[in-house]
Amino acid sequence: MTIDVAVVGGGISGLALAYDLKRYGRRIAVLERRALTGGNAVSERIGGFLMEHGPTTVNTTVKAAADFSRDLGLDREQCGLGADARRRYLVKQGALRGLPANPLGIFTSSYLSLRARLRLLAEVGIPRRQDTGTPGEETVAQFCTRRFGREFTERVVDPFVGGVYAGCAAELSASAVFPKLIDMERRFGSLTRGALHLRRAEDRLPGGRLCSWRTGIGALPKALSTDLGGVLHTGVVARRIQPVAGGFMIDAGSSGRFKARAVVLATQPRVAAQLLENVDQDAAEAAGRISAPPLAVVFFGYRRNQVEHSLDGFGFLTPASEGRAVTGALFSSTMFPGRAPDGSVAITGYFGGARAPHLGAQAPETLVDLAREEFRDLLGARGEPLVARVRHWPLGLPQYGLGHGEVTATLDELGHRVPGLFVVGNYLRGVSTADCLGVARETAKRVDKFIAKSFGEA
Ligand SMILES: Cc1cc2nc3c(=O)[nH]c(=O)nc-3n(C[C@H](O)[C@H](O)[C@H](O)COP(=O)(O)OP(=O)(O)OC[C@H]3O[C@@H](n4cnc5c(N)ncnc54)[C@H](O)[C@@H]3O)c2cc1C
Repeated sequence: MTIDVAVVGGGISGLALAYDLKRYGRRIAVLERRALTGGNAVSERIGGFLMEHGPTTVNTTVKAAADFSRDLGLDREQCGLGADARRRYLVKQGALRGLPANPLGIFTSSYLSLRARLRLLAEVGIPRRQDTGTPGEETVAQFCTRRFGREFTERVVDPFVGGVYAGCAAELSASAVFPKLIDMERRFGSLTRGALHLRRAEDRLPGGRLCSWRTGIGALPKALSTDLGGVLHTGVVARRIQPVAGGFMIDAGSSGRFKARAVVLATQPRVAAQLLENVDQDAAEAAGRISAPPLAVVFFGYRRNQVEHSLDGFGFLTPASEGRAVTGALFSSTMFPGRAPDGSVAITGYFGGARAPHLGAQAPETLVDLAREEFRDLLGARGEPLVARVRHWPLGLPQYGLGHGEVTATLDELGHRVPGLFVVGNYLRGVSTADCLGVARETAKRVDKFIAKSFGEA
């Protein structure tokens, strides 16, 4: 039987897209190589603790994220960040420095030198890039140094992109990672002026409302998978895609073959590159250009009295210049309720990514030792954790490097060169769960239109 759409990959992107296609009445199949769906959105109960192996938060100010939460009946399970989780810590000279939880906090804190804080104030007078006629694409580090100065970039921006993108400011493309900030510079000449203008106009500033669900982020793929039911084929690895009359044939080895009118690749970029190889060289080459260095997540549960630090915040980030192994950590049990039993706390540390890919691939014992050292030095954590769990992500997070715009343009045009073949995922328009949901929703509409137009249906 020929189905309408085969979706390769049952992470958040593939599941959300399939959910919408099912609503459109399409006959679909989702092929997922692992035994469980959800991709890197995995929540696990360990004793009374709740570990997030991948994402911890979802930004519900993004419409698609809010809509999926409502449509799946997850709103009543939703939890916002705890009141204590607003403070952010950054590491300076081997110690945590808290930034007050307000936009002016950076000026009142002594985390940055006085000179760096004055340089921040001078941003309003820095000319627009177009006005200086400088050609070429900027990295995040170049853009932020130009607007805000070197110290702010090294001590605030680089740790931030290390935490959110597992990337380095010196390698990521400013226009791909911060399109809204680039646009603010273009429109208002200065980000300070732009922020003030948007605030006055009560427009939305870049940022968001970070949420989760009572049982963790895993609630989202679980709800999507429950809805999809029998169309999910787990333990099925798509090995090759072949254009054939009336659509495509997917070879899934010993799991058989699937014939579909359209195919959506919802895998990591490296896998998409391999599957596109014999279908469209340009798209294969574009997806293959996106690196995704290994990343490791180390989760510890401690008795409260084992940790000196009050953990009164979201977590901490480490600037590269501090030379630490850990790029950052979340105070998981402060962020959301139910992450640790009474009298205990949960901390999640991140290792690897573009800053130190080799660390993301270390053995679990090595990572546990490293995390214990880091949490002892920075948080005063003593003794054996009650629970310790390591999760490796060999294909960590996609890096939006220079030239990312060309990569996405080539992938966007795939449908013109090979009608019926689409790609979705976290390497296109944002790495966050919410961005993946938005791309999936928008792509589902295009896939549905393609089927209707090409196969003569309403
Ligand atoms: C450690 C970590 C922390 C994060 N934290 C946050 C956060 O706090 N907030 C946030 O918004 N975002 C966060 N993210 C980002 C966000 O979680 C991801 O970008 C998003 O979940 C990606 O979903 P996806 O479906 O596009 O890709 P994936 O989750 O990678 O799913 C791809 C799926 O394709 C399957 N697959 C691969 N090859 C094949 C094949 N040949 N055949 C069949 N199936 C195949 C894989 O098994 C996988 O299930 C984090 C990511 C990581 C890794």
